[in-house]
Amino acid sequence: MAKGLYTKRNSGRKMDEVRPMSAKVGIVPSADGSAMFETGKTRAIAVVRGPRTLHPQHLQNAQTGILRVSYGMMPFSVSDRIRPGPNRRSEEISKVSEWALSSVVDLSGFPNTVVDVFIQIPQADAGTRVAGLNAAAMALAHAGIPMKEMVSAIGVGKIDKTLVVDLDKYEDSDYHEGEGSTDIPVVVTSRTKNVALLQLDGKISIPEFKETMEMAKKACNEILKVQMEALKNIGGSNE
Ligand code: UDP
Repeated sequence: MAKGLYTKRNSGRKMDEVRPMSAKVGIVPSADGSAMFETGKTRAIAVVRGPRTLHPQHLQNAQTGILRVSYGMMPFSVSDRIRPGPNRRSEEISKVSEWALSSVVDLSGFPNTVVDVFIQIPQADAGTRVAGLNAAAMALAHAGIPMKEMVSAIGVGKIDKTLVVDLDKYEDSDYHEGEGSTDIPVVVTSRTKNVALLQLDGKISIPEFKETMEMAKKACNEILKVQMEALKNIGGSNE
């Protein structure tokens, strides 16, 4: 149940302020590409393998390689143990992440191959799909996969009548005790500033929606700087 107007954030952040971020590239030496992205208590790791010849052969595309994304939360990433293995939520997040990343990678030089991206969430406090996408984009760049541009992702939303950036779990679901806030994960491309993914869970008016998109683009510019810094500083971390 709502406790009234949301005028002050639980964390003390400003309404348009992202959680403290950190990023690191090259966290799994045996992989072709790997990265970690952290925002507040949410941490995502991404590992890239490929391009490798795709099996079974009938799935191959002679014109281009394909991207395959798998997202999962680790069993103890939240206080209630998560059952290992795929579920409806993880299948959905894997698919939308695949769509978002496919719009920027160019695998036309690698026909009949697959590039696998494995996203794992060791610790979750909301915003895991966007943290996973931030890590995955860095891991793809680290693997040397041709990309038309980078992508950065953020969750924006509305709590009561207040528009906010980067909702944590308290803001995403606990504040309203089950009813949930309006939650909008957004992926923005680095150069053309196109929206590569947008999901909307909840209600919002069109003027408010436009304002959240501006907030998301501003936050993605900040995230992009953290990603690029980590890519320049492979093996080190950027906090
Ligand atoms: N969560 C959870 N158990 C689950 C799924 C999610 O406790 O089985 C929590 C977790 O903190 C997650 C948050 O709920 O980050 C919000 O989940 P949502 O499905 O909105 O996706 P996300 O915001 O993580 O992309």
